[in-house]
Amino acid sequence: MSSNGGSPESTASRGSLSRRSAFKAGGLAITGAAFGAGLPAPAEAAGENDVDHRRGYDTIVVGAGLAGLVAARELRRKGRSVLVLEARDRIGGRTWTDRFNGYEIERGGTWVDPLQPHVWREIARYGLAVVADAGPERVLMPTPTGFTESDPVTAYTRQGELFTPFFEGARDYFPQPYAPFTREDLITPLDRLSLRDRLDQLAHPPADEVRMTSTTGLYGAPSARGSMLQLAQWWALAGWNYTGFSGINTFRVERGTIALATAILADGKPDLKLGSPVSSVTQHSGGVKVVTRTGVTYTAAEVVMAVPVNVWKNIAFSPALPQAHRDATTQGYGVPRQKKLWLDLATPADRFIAEAPEGFPFAIMGRLNDNAPVVAFTVDTGFDVGNHAQVEAAVRTVLPDAALRGYTVTDWQADEFSLGGPAFRRPLQLTRLHRALNQPLGRVKFCGDDLALGWIGYMDGAIESGLRVAGSPTLAPSPSAVPDTRGLAVPQVDRKVYRSLFGL
Ligand SMILES: Cc1cc2nc3c(=O)[nH]c(=O)nc-3n(C[C@H](O)[C@H](O)[C@H](O)COP(=O)(O)OP(=O)(O)OC[C@H]3O[C@@H](n4cnc5c(N)ncnc54)[C@H](O)[C@@H]3O)c2cc1C
Repeated sequence: MSSNGGSPESTASRGSLSRRSAFKAGGLAITGAAFGAGLPAPAEAAGENDVDHRRGYDTIVVGAGLAGLVAARELRRKGRSVLVLEARDRIGGRTWTDRFNGYEIERGGTWVDPLQPHVWREIARYGLAVVADAGPERVLMPTPTGFTESDPVTAYTRQGELFTPFFEGARDYFPQPYAPFTREDLITPLDRLSLRDRLDQLAHPPADEVRMTSTTGLYGAPSARGSMLQLAQWWALAGWNYTGFSGINTFRVERGTIALATAILADGKPDLKLGSPVSSVTQHSGGVKVVTRTGVTYTAAEVVMAVPVNVWKNIAFSPALPQAHRDATTQGYGVPRQKKLWLDLATPADRFIAEAPEGFPFAIMGRLNDNAPVVAFTVDTGFDVGNHAQVEAAVRTVLPDAALRGYTVTDWQADEFSLGGPAFRRPLQLTRLHRALNQPLGRVKFCGDDLALGWIGYMDGAIESGLRVAGSPTLAPSPSAVPDTRGLAVPQVDRKVYRSLFGL
């Protein structure tokens, strides 16, 4: 078994303990220029952008996920001196390209799409190739008495028939998907609804509802927690139809998400200090003081907090965060409990997707490419993902003949630097909190996928938010407008055979 047993960093850090210890000793400086096309280069002395140390930086960006890296690049283009402080010993945040059994895997964010204009434009900007997964040859769907198998087109045509009424009215209440408050009069009453509430309203027969709770249960973690409007906004962003909605998890960056993060960093060339968890952010009359856990102090005229909303509660802000921010970080924005596994299954060996109803150990699993490991998602806390026998038993609840040779798991909830998976709002967070969280607090600004106006919970949203916080223009096309993808070859695929494996 290869498992990091609930500690998202432990697999990656095996064999590099001394380097991590060194990072922890005080933060190691790396210049963006030192990064080539591959993984981050060994640490070097900081170039520090000719910073006058008595004055500090123009901007400190806390967090080297996609939002922070984009914000840093944009501010550097405007001539600012920028320091990025990153807690982990790698860039990328909730995207993390790694290897398992000799196969390149993504432990977090994976799929991108032309309907997601900000990430798509970044991919085109750096000339990165995209590939499509081969997709499943067969699909297992739940019934009230077990599972039924069909071809992908049959399975997802039926899913489209079931989910279309779920989003009835979305064209009216989200007429401009990137401006979610356009019809505030309509969304305000709807924002009370959870995904479970919407399922109850529809009162489908059990045979139909059971096919839908894999999706609602995984995203909502569980359905009773997740906001109906959150899923409906994705539906609107994808063109108000099931083909767009289910197809957005088709394409990947060929060389992994790390290639995108590395390219953005190399372009912006901010100073970067890895292994530097920020513990306090204090505003004073002349600027902001940022202190790391090891007591290293940095100063800047302003700070951009590009960390997940869920972790704000572990950073001491002075003055204290206002009520909306405290509510958001206490309630949580990133979905709780989410774990992503990569399974080495001896059997079955073909390409498949299996969806399971809410309450099953795994919400969804599938082998999407020949000879690739099986990717699986769970929000169940009821089985021990560190125990090989329990993981195999969990897989067998859907695939009785499965034989598990090994696996690796990433627990985003247990990771102190994310405390959850991708953003997925709870009821009332859109109308009561979202605008307030996007406001700067004096010299401290906030960004991240949680705060996106559009694709919240996706890489696209992280990039959009990073652009906005840096004062750069965003793209807000209608979903039918194709973003500028010149220079980027888009593989031709039958999008009907794909479904929302995101965040799956
Ligand atoms: C399992 C999973 C599957 C996903 N699948 C997809 C997908 O298929 N497609 C898609 O588009 N998106 C997907 N996402 C979502 C996507 O990964 C995120 O939306 C995006 O990466 C968030 O970027 P960010 O910069 O906003 O936040 P993050 O990537 O979380 O970056 C925040 C950074 O802040 C750092 N940090 C935290 N605390 C501190 C501190 N105290 N001091 C200093 N640094 C700190 C973190 O280490 C991190 O590097 C998925 C996410 C997960 C978890």
